[in-house]
Amino acid sequence: MKSTVLKTANALWLCKDGKLVALPANTDCSAYDVIDASKAQAMPGRICAHTHIYSGLCPLGMPAPEKAPENFLQILERIWWRLDRGIDAQILRACARLYAAETLFHGTTTFLDHHESPNLIEGSLDILSEACDEIGIRALLCYGATERNYGYDEGHRGLEECRRFIKANKNPLQIGAVSLHASFTCSDKIVREAGEMCQELGAIMHVHVAEDAADIADARSRGYVGPFERLLAFGALPKGSIIAHGVHLTAEEVAAADALGIWFAQNPRSNQGNRVGYAKNLVASKHVALGCDGWDAKMQNEIDCLRKLSAEAGEDAEAVIKARVAGGYKLCEALYGMPFDLVEGGAADVIVEKEGKVNDVIVGGRIVVRDGKLCTADMDAIRAEAKEAADRLWAAMKKLA
Ligand SMILES: [Zn+2]
Repeated sequence: MKSTVLKTANALWLCKDGKLVALPANTDCSAYDVIDASKAQAMPGRICAHTHIYSGLCPLGMPAPEKAPENFLQILERIWWRLDRGIDAQILRACARLYAAETLFHGTTTFLDHHESPNLIEGSLDILSEACDEIGIRALLCYGATERNYGYDEGHRGLEECRRFIKANKNPLQIGAVSLHASFTCSDKIVREAGEMCQELGAIMHVHVAEDAADIADARSRGYVGPFERLLAFGALPKGSIIAHGVHLTAEEVAAADALGIWFAQNPRSNQGNRVGYAKNLVASKHVALGCDGWDAKMQNEIDCLRKLSAEAGEDAEAVIKARVAGGYKLCEALYGMPFDLVEGGAADVIVEKEGKVNDVIVGGRIVVRDGKLCTADMDAIRAEAKEAADRLWAAMKKLA
């Protein structure tokens, strides 16, 4: 296979071992597969710091719950904790292929996933990994361990799925992490086990913290100051870990996490949709990136929502947006050990836009979208497979109480 070369208005980049290497301007490129962006806009692929691939079928007609949820816990119970139990291997594969492909079309080349499928724990991360590899997206993968359905055994199996994947993974585009769903659905025993696994494997944690006030109340009822302090007490938030949300953390807690090198993924659309509040104290951290929390990974939509909510909170919205976007690249740099920018040695994750539309996408040096078309799989087949899987998932959800 020919190596990829990206031609921009003022540079020639060879993609070598997943990184960018500058070539002299007069290089004969006939031996290369050239993406010509000399008259277009080439930029680093966008980053989504927190999502749920498993919700990727929702736009395909997910039925509304019979009784409308009135608070955050009811949203989880009536929608997401039914959907996740309906997932089987075929549904997950179809969902992952669709969501990964659509994410690339949005110009997002990396997503950090947080997976749960309580009736398909073992091997679920391999299904996600294979789909991401096939479609050609960079991903962090983990299983969000929880005890909310079947107790301790469920939590333990979730953590073991993380361990298995972290140890087996050889794909340089993929990173495995230890994960818990959230403090409020886990016993001390499971949080301790997660902390020990992080230490043993030298792995980071990816977890929801303080998304809703219910998480704070739960940790307090267990005798902790809050969920952040509880996770810290068990060593379950090592440096580099990723906290999703942090909506109800105090400025002091956010600053403490920042000092410990812990990242935050802010998800403005999801927080607004779930009516859990605006994460106003995240400005106390220099480690904050944007996630989409299972919505489409079109990061411009997330930025537009952040602009509105940030301004309403009295912040300098443009400065916050700038910091969040830069935070995404810094987070990836920390995860993968290379800059995510069009620089020598930078990740060969580049998007080319023409008139504001994503035309070409390169991930890890591989051309995955060309002239607006997916190169790695048949998009029509992906859509057909997803539609069939979605219909089965809605039927499965209906049967679950
Ligand atoms: Zn989430």
